[in-house]
Amino acid sequence: LIVAGNFKTFKTRKGTREYLEELEKLVSDSKSEVVVFPPATAIQDRIEKVEIGTQNLYPTKNGAFTGEIGLEQIEEFGIKTVLLGHSERRDILNESEDLIAQKFRFYSKEKLRIVFCVGENLEIRESGEDEVFKFLQNQLININLDYENFVIAYEPIWAIGTGFTPTLEQIETIAKKLKELTGKDVLYGGSVKPENVADILSQKSVSGVLVGGASLKADQFAKIVKIADEVSK
Ligand code: PEP
Repeated sequence: LIVAGNFKTFKTRKGTREYLEELEKLVSDSKSEVVVFPPATAIQDRIEKVEIGTQNLYPTKNGAFTGEIGLEQIEEFGIKTVLLGHSERRDILNESEDLIAQKFRFYSKEKLRIVFCVGENLEIRESGEDEVFKFLQNQLININLDYENFVIAYEPIWAIGTGFTPTLEQIETIAKKLKELTGKDVLYGGSVKPENVADILSQKSVSGVLVGGASLKADQFAKIVKIADEVSK
């Protein structure tokens, strides 16, 4: 199982280093794959068990793209995983489908592992499961599903940072469909915490979780990792 933590725009370089030192001690013997996405200023070399990924990248090796980072900046740290298509980038930073697809194309050529986020808003969810799946399918339309090194993160926007989650049945239904469509592992994200992670990971088609808020404290995130270890699959 994959347990990934997205720090968003939280934590400094120093704070991330301290966090990773603590987390390493707590999860060193975990059988789960543990990945953390710190802000760009805090990306650093892997210490041991915990993989470091990046929350975003511009589709370039280097160049005149003020404010962005590209391949050259992460290669220095041996980073091999990138989060793409997060709803905050789509909705707050106005990232278009086209730009997301360009990023996917560029970094799949570079063989990075891509965690590709999809998810519907509340209005779509309220129009029913068929509408939800149609929407998610559209978010994948410009993406090369034959690329091997990527996983999907199903993150309903209305569940992110809200404390609300879909029912377990709803999570399983969508994860199963996404898995059938793409042939990839599907993670669930949206208000995952120690109290609900066992049930979520017990769903047959869920291969991991992407955690925002509850990943910010190393001991809490380690608890999630420990619970993942106990869910046998
Ligand atoms: C996220 O933004 O990827 C996320 C899942 O956030 P949270 O766990 O805080 O809902």
